[in-house]
Amino acid sequence: MEKPIVAIVGRPNVGKSTLFNKLIGERRAIIADEAGTTRDRQYGETIWNGRVFTIVDTAGLLVGDDDPNLPLAEIVRRTHQQAQLAIDEADVIVFMVDVREGLIAADEEVAALLRRSSKPVVLGVNKADTEDRRQNAVEFYNLGLGDPIALSAYHGTGSGDLLDEIVRNLPAGQEEEEDDNSLKIAIVGRPNVGKSSLLNKLVGEERVVVSDIPGTTRDSIDTKLTYKGIPITLIDTAGIRRRGSIEQGIERYSVLRTMKAIERCHIALILVDAQEGPTAQDTHVAGMVLEANKGLAIIVNKWDLIDKAKFSYEDAKTTMSQVFHFAPYAPIEFISAKTGQRATKVLDIAQTIQSERNKRVSTSDINNLLRAAVREHPPTAMHKGAHLRLFYATQAQVEPPVFLFFSNAPEQVHFGYKRYLENRIREQYGFIGTPIILVFKGRE
Ligand code: GDP
Ligand code: GDP
Repeated sequence: MEKPIVAIVGRPNVGKSTLFNKLIGERRAIIADEAGTTRDRQYGETIWNGRVFTIVDTAGLLVGDDDPNLPLAEIVRRTHQQAQLAIDEADVIVFMVDVREGLIAADEEVAALLRRSSKPVVLGVNKADTEDRRQNAVEFYNLGLGDPIALSAYHGTGSGDLLDEIVRNLPAGQEEEEDDNSLKIAIVGRPNVGKSSLLNKLVGEERVVVSDIPGTTRDSIDTKLTYKGIPITLIDTAGIRRRGSIEQGIERYSVLRTMKAIERCHIALILVDAQEGPTAQDTHVAGMVLEANKGLAIIVNKWDLIDKAKFSYEDAKTTMSQVFHFAPYAPIEFISAKTGQRATKVLDIAQTIQSERNKRVSTSDINNLLRAAVREHPPTAMHKGAHLRLFYATQAQVEPPVFLFFSNAPEQVHFGYKRYLENRIREQYGFIGTPIILVFKGRE
């Protein structure tokens, strides 16, 4: 089921991330090593009055947005872009302003943009830490966005009122998509990498049986097909049918649309342009896929444009492995959506990953592996000379695979040791293209 998306927009420093952290109820976790890029968490799940929704801090969604050294004009431009992004993709927009600064021109411009959209907007007037400042919030009626809600993200006051207002504006309980048990594959990547071309090529392939011309959802266009007897839904984020409506000039990389597609899919194929090479945005999206515990493959497209005498397959493979080093288990394939070279291979890869995600390792096998792993490389002793013990393990879940390890001191198992165990599991069982989760528990 798709969760509604609530996007927070506003100028830098008005308190967006402070509010965001309050709402997702955890310290902003830095997702560093995992995704290969240091970045803050930008979206998380919230529940209020029984409604679950995803809340997004639009600042920093685009790499480099949160750079404090940007000139003012650039900040204004980007704030506009974020607002536009939210208008396009979110279900409810929270527009944040700073009561201490009062009503300023930059806010008015963004407000005008928001007023013209048909999206519900909740106006949060932040830094209203005192009664006086709460009074001052009335000034923001002038923005024409309805009742300003005075809050202090910092102290948490007023955030309940804000949440009430958000929930009031959420779309009526969205209908649950009927699940046809197909393998859902999202094709994601920057504009112009060839997402639509790949989709069209696949649909035109002889071995691919297209069963149904678009079953549409609001934001992505699904194509149903059957490949090697397995029903597949391709979730296309390029939005072939939107093509005409995408504004000329600025081609925005729709992170929110990508996020939604990732949420709905089993396997995400990240398309990378062979000529341009992978960008920070690509690794960023790969990080999102892994965080969502979905399957991942890296597909390098436009391989036909590469002069292999200058840049060989091996060179390319090495480059890609380095860039996506945080997911060494993700398959990397080189294709041409234009010529069709290895195009259907992406479907084979997705099917392989899906069966890897459903693989079960028997309890006796995983315990044999654990014993051998501990014998060859015992966990380091805890303080006071006590031994850290790993008693036994079992696979608790598939899709994604989850392994439970029982220990006398689960909280003392170091990150490095977890990594070691994961590597041992992968050496033996592969789990190609899928995250696996290792959970450490106290012995019952
Ligand atoms: P963002 O750039 O919009 O994400 O803003 P931040 O959340 O990073 O906040 C900018 C600054 O405003 C930080 O120093 C926060 O501590 C401060 N701030 C955020 N919310 C409040 C608030 O409710 N009251 C006060 N006094 N300061 C706040
Ligand atoms: P999207 O924005 O990701 O959907 O990208 P498109 O599918 O619209 O492709 C963008 C441009 O790249 C178009 O001009 C395509 O013809 C071209 N293109 C896509 N795939 C390939 C490919 O494999 N090889 C070459 N040479 N061009 C490609």
